[in-house]
Amino acid sequence: MRKAVIAGSGAGASVMAVTLAEAGWHVVLLEKGPNYFTGLGKHWPPKTVFSNDNLKALRNFEQPDPEAYPRTFRTSAAQKSGYYVGDVNNLSVAVGGGTIHYGAAMPRFWDIDFKQRSMLGPVDGADVQDWPFEYADLEPLYDHLERAVGVQGDMAAMPHDPVLKHAPRKRDYPMRSGPQKRASIVVSAGAKALGLHPYPFPSAINSEPYNGRPACNNCGFCNAYGCPTSARGSALDLLHRALLTGRVEIRPETMVYGVEMKGRKAKGLRWIDQHGRRGVEHGDIVILAASGIESARIALMSKLPDPHHRIGKRLMFHYFTSGFGVFLDQRMHAYKTWGVETACMEDFSDPDFTGARAFAKAQGLPYIRGGLCEMGGSQEVIPEAQFYQFILAAIQPQQPFGRAFKELMRTSLLRERLVGIQMVGHDLPYLSNNITLDPKVRDQFGLPVPRITYAPGKHENVAQEFYIPLLTAILVASGANAAAAVPANTALLGESGTIPATRHILGGMQMGTNEKTSVVNQWGRMHHTDNVYVADGGVFTTSGAQNPTLTIMAVALRMARHLAGTGHSHAS
Ligand SMILES: Cc1cc2nc3c(=O)[nH]c(=O)nc-3n(C[C@H](O)[C@H](O)[C@H](O)COP(=O)(O)OP(=O)(O)OC[C@H]3O[C@@H](n4cnc5c(N)ncnc54)[C@H](O)[C@@H]3O)c2cc1C
Ligand code: SF4
Repeated sequence: MRKAVIAGSGAGASVMAVTLAEAGWHVVLLEKGPNYFTGLGKHWPPKTVFSNDNLKALRNFEQPDPEAYPRTFRTSAAQKSGYYVGDVNNLSVAVGGGTIHYGAAMPRFWDIDFKQRSMLGPVDGADVQDWPFEYADLEPLYDHLERAVGVQGDMAAMPHDPVLKHAPRKRDYPMRSGPQKRASIVVSAGAKALGLHPYPFPSAINSEPYNGRPACNNCGFCNAYGCPTSARGSALDLLHRALLTGRVEIRPETMVYGVEMKGRKAKGLRWIDQHGRRGVEHGDIVILAASGIESARIALMSKLPDPHHRIGKRLMFHYFTSGFGVFLDQRMHAYKTWGVETACMEDFSDPDFTGARAFAKAQGLPYIRGGLCEMGGSQEVIPEAQFYQFILAAIQPQQPFGRAFKELMRTSLLRERLVGIQMVGHDLPYLSNNITLDPKVRDQFGLPVPRITYAPGKHENVAQEFYIPLLTAILVASGANAAAAVPANTALLGESGTIPATRHILGGMQMGTNEKTSVVNQWGRMHHTDNVYVADGGVFTTSGAQNPTLTIMAVALRMARHLAGTGHSHAS
C-alpha cells in the first residue's frame, strides 16, 4: 500500500486525504493545531466545543497565538529593521484548518483567472502568468466539490454577464439558497438600481439538512467562529469520509518543520509535538498543505532544491476595499444570519466593466480588476464596544464606561445601523511580494518564523481608486444617510504600513510549466524533487478576484486524482 504523509488538515489537505485514501492509499496527516471535534471518523456530525462567543474568538481559540507563533511584516526589502511582529494574516490552526471558521463563501474563479497572461496580457512590473490548465478542466471538479462539501446557491439568479459567461456551469447547486438578510437585500437593491447584478452568495452553509448535518439556525456568529451545530460545510466533511476508510490517521498538535530528503527524493516529514518530542514520519510521497505561507516556510526551513529562487515568491493576499453606509432611520442588524454576507456581486471583477479600461489606460495600465463584492456586512459586539471605549477614552478619559458607553451600545451605530460592502480586491503577482525566513524572530520551538514582505502595486491602487466611488454610490442608492469607502485594513495601520489581514493567502509555491519561473508542476510536484507535493493556496498562479477556498480544493482534487490514477488525464 502506498503511503502519503501530509502537513496540515485544512482545505487542500482534506481533499488529498480523502481522494488518496478512497483509492487505497495509507495517509497520515500531521496537524499543528488541536482537534476540536469528538468522534470525527466515527459519529457524524462530530461533537464540537464551539459556541457563540466573541471573546473566545478574540482570545485566539482557533487562531495560532501570535506570541507563540508570530510572523513578521515589512512593506519592502529595503526596510531592514522595525518590522511588525505578531498576527500577519493568520489562518486558523486546528484540525480542518481555515475552513472551521471561514465565512464559507464558495464562488468559482473565472476563465480569465487561469489564462490571465494570454487573455489579458502582461502588466509592467508584475509577473502575470497562465496556469497550466483552464477553467474547463476545473468545472467538473468544482461541481463535485460543491456536492461533497455542500454549497447552497441559485444558478437561475446568477447573471450571465459577467458571471456565467466567465464561469459557466452545467448543474445547479445541490442546495437552494437560504433566506437573505435584511442588509444584503437593501444593499443589493441599491446595486440593482445602478444597473449592477447582485445574486445570492454561493455558500457552504446548509439551507436545509444536507450531508447528515442540520440546517443552519442563523445564529449570526458565523464568519470567524466555529459552527456549534455543524451546519457549515468544510474540510471536516472530507476528513470524516477519509477516516471512514480505516486507512487514515490525523495526528493533532504535531507541527511539521522539515522535509527529510535524500537527493531528489523525500523520505518523510520531520515533526515536533507540543511536548517538544521530535520524529520523522516516513512515506512514499510527502504533501505540504500547511497553507500558503506555512508550506513555503517548511520548504525554506528544509532547504528544498530551488535553483531559480522561486520558493516564497509572488505572495498574493487580495487587496480588500470596504464601503460603509450609515442608516440612521432604520435598524439593519447586518450582524445576524449565516456566512459572510448573503448576497454578492461580481460586476467589478470584470476588466471590461464600464469605464474600467479607459481609467486603467489613463494611468498607464492595460486593465484593472476590482473583485467580488460581499454585500451587507457589519461589526461584531466586542470590536464595537472596544471602538466606543476608544472614542470615549479620547473625549472623556475620566469615564470611558458608564452611561455614555451604555447609550452608545444601545443605539448601536456600528452593529445595527452600519452596513458594509467588502470588495475582494484582485491582487496581481509581484516578485517583490514574498515569504522569507526571518533572520532573528523565532517561534516557541526556536524555529525561524515567516517574514512577509508585501505592498499593493500600481494595479491594486488604481483599481481601488476607480472602485471606491462606485462602492459609495451603491450605498447611497441603497438609502444610506451617509456613505464612504476606504482601503481595507486602514485601521490596522502600523509602523510598517497596513498589516495584511484579509485571510486569503495565495502564492509562494507557484504552479507552472517552466521550471525557471515556478515551483511546482501542474500536478503539484515540486520541479526539482521526485515526490514532494504542495496542495494548498500556495500553488496559485494568479489570485482570482473571488474568495479562494473552493478553487484551492478543486486544484487539490485535480492533483489528487492524478496521483491516485483516478483522474481523466495521466500526464506527468
Ligand atoms: C475568518 C476567516 C474567514 C474566511 N472566510 C472565507 C470565505 O468565506 N471563503 C473563502 O474562500 N475563504 C475564506 N477564508 C480563507 C480560507 O480559510 C482559506 O482560503 C483556506 O482555509 C486555505 O486553505 P489551505 O488548504 O491553503 O490552508 P488551511 O485550510 O489553512 O490548512 C492549513 C492547515 O495546515 C496546518 N498547519 C500550518 N502549519 C503547519 C505545520 N507547520 N505543520 C502541520 N500543520 C500545519 C494548519 O493548522 C491548517 O490546519 C477565511 C479565513 C478566515 C480566517
Ligand atoms: S450562522 Fe449557521 S452556519 Fe453559521 S455558525 Fe451559526 S449555525 Fe453555523
